[in-house]
Amino acid sequence: MSENLEKTTSNGAGDAMLQNVGVKKEPDPAVQPHRILVLGSGFGGLYTAVYLDRYLKGLPDVRITVIDKHNFFLFTPMLHAAATGGLEPRYIAHSIRKIFRKTRIHAHIGEVLSIDLEKKTVSTQHRTMAYDDLVISLGSRTNFMNLEDRLEGVFTLKSLKDAAVINNHVIRMFEKAYWEDDPEIRKSYLTFVVVGGGPTGVELAGELHEYATRELLRDFGRRIDKSEIRVILVEATSRILPMLPPNLSLEALERLRSIGIDVLLETRLEGYQNQKVQLVGGDEIPSTTLVWAAGVKTNPLVAALDLEKDGIGRIKVNGTLESTKKPHVWVVGDNAHSMNPHSGMPYPPTAQTAVRQAKVCAHNIVARLRKRPEKLFSHEHVGGFVSIGDNYALLSAKQLTLTGMVGWFLWNLVYIHKLPIIRYRLLSTFSLFLKVFFERATTEIDLTPDPVENPSPEYQRALQEDY
Ligand SMILES: Cc1cc2nc3c(=O)[nH]c(=O)nc-3n(C[C@H](O)[C@H](O)[C@H](O)COP(=O)(O)OP(=O)(O)OC[C@H]3O[C@@H](n4cnc5c(N)ncnc54)[C@H](O)[C@@H]3O)c2cc1C
Repeated sequence: MSENLEKTTSNGAGDAMLQNVGVKKEPDPAVQPHRILVLGSGFGGLYTAVYLDRYLKGLPDVRITVIDKHNFFLFTPMLHAAATGGLEPRYIAHSIRKIFRKTRIHAHIGEVLSIDLEKKTVSTQHRTMAYDDLVISLGSRTNFMNLEDRLEGVFTLKSLKDAAVINNHVIRMFEKAYWEDDPEIRKSYLTFVVVGGGPTGVELAGELHEYATRELLRDFGRRIDKSEIRVILVEATSRILPMLPPNLSLEALERLRSIGIDVLLETRLEGYQNQKVQLVGGDEIPSTTLVWAAGVKTNPLVAALDLEKDGIGRIKVNGTLESTKKPHVWVVGDNAHSMNPHSGMPYPPTAQTAVRQAKVCAHNIVARLRKRPEKLFSHEHVGGFVSIGDNYALLSAKQLTLTGMVGWFLWNLVYIHKLPIIRYRLLSTFSLFLKVFFERATTEIDLTPDPVENPSPEYQRALQEDY
C-alpha cells in the first residue's frame, strides 16, 4: 500500500532528546501501511482527524498526520472577544499536540508549501510526505474584493495574531488621543471603522463599541469624553446579517444603532489611504483604524491545484466529499464546493458545515478501507448565534428565535461547550461571566521585539518569522 518517501530530513539532536526524555519516537512513515494526511487543523481538519482516530479502532496499521503552520486549533467564533480584551487569546487557541496526545494522530507543525497530486506527496519546510488518502482543509483567506492596492494599513480578523494586533492597536489609539490636543487628529484616533455587515463585522463592531465606550473610557476618562468615540459599520448592501430572517436582521440593526454604532448601509468602500476611509461617492471618514471583515476567498495553495473548482477556487466534491477529479483526495470546510442536495446551492463556509463534513469524510475514508458503504453528505443548517456587544445575542434556530440576555447566555454556553480542552472551557466560562460584573483587560502587549544591537543572522531570521 505504501509508497516510499520522496525525501526526509530530520534533526538528529532533536530525535536523541526525545529518546532521552522517554517520549515515543515518531515511527518512520515509510513503513506505515496506509497514510492519511490531513492538511489544516481548523474546524474541518481537526475534527476529521479526531473522527478518523475514533472510527479506525481495530485497524492499527493506519497512520494519521495533521499538518498545520500553527501548533493550535483556533476557535474563530470567539475571536472578536479576544480582540477586545474579553477573553485571553490562549483560551480559544488550543495546542493540537495536547489534543492529539492520547490518540494515534501525529501533529506536524509546518507550512504546507506544495501539494503534488500526481506523486501523492505534500511538502513542508521540514520534509516531504507521501499519502494514500489526503484531506484538504486549509481554510480561507480574506477577500479584499480587488481593493488591495487601495487599502493602506488595514486590519483583518482571521487569526489569533490579528486579534492581538487589533487589541493592542485600539489601546494605542486611546493612548495617542489622550495626549493629542488637535480635535481633528483626536477624532481620527477615536473613530473605529469596520467594513462588512456579516457576522464577523457585526460582532466585532459590537464588541469594539463596548470595549471603547466602557472599558477604555474608564481608564482614559480624565482626558477623553464618550462623545468623542465613534464606531462605524459600513455595509455595501441594504441589510446586515443576510443569513438571518429579515425581522432578526432588522432587530440586529436596531440593537447596533441603539448602543450608539453608526451603521452605514448601501455604502461602498473605495479605499483607505492616508488614514482616511474613502467611500464611493466621495465622502471621507478620517480614522486610524479600519478593520476589513467583508469576505473570504480560497487559500491560494488550494486554488492552484489541478482539480475541478468553482469560480472562487473551492474544490468541487461529490456527495461523499471526495474530489470530483481525483480519487482519495477529500475536501472539507471552506475549501470544499459541496452541493446541498435540498437547496441546490453550495454549503456556506461555516464552522458548522466544516465539523459535519469532517464526520462524514472520516466515515468514508474508513468505510473504503473496510470495504463498507460510504455516506453522502447532507446537512440542514441548525441555526446560529450572533452576539452584539455585552450581554446581547441573537439566536436563530429552526423553530426558535431568541434575543437579548438569554440569547447571550446561550451563546456563551453553546460556544464554550465546543472548546476542545476542558480546562479552557472552565476558564472561558469564568472570564465571560465575570465580564458582566468586572472589567475586561486593557493591558497593551507590545508584540514588536526590542531592537538589538548587532543582531545575529539567526536572530534576524527569527524576527521575520510568523509567531
Ligand atoms: C472571526 C471569525 C468568526 C467566525 N465565526 C463563526 C461562527 O460564529 N460560526 C460559524 O459556523 N463559522 C464562523 N466562522 C467561519 C469558520 O471559522 C470557518 O468557516 C471554519 O473555520 C472553516 O474551517 P476550515 O477547517 O475549512 O478552515 P480553518 O478553520 O480556517 O482551518 C484552516 C487551517 O489551515 C491552516 N493553514 C492554512 N494554510 C496553511 C498552510 N499553507 N500550511 C499549513 N497550515 C495551513 C490554518 O493555520 C488553519 O489552522 C468565523 C470565521 C472568522 C474568521
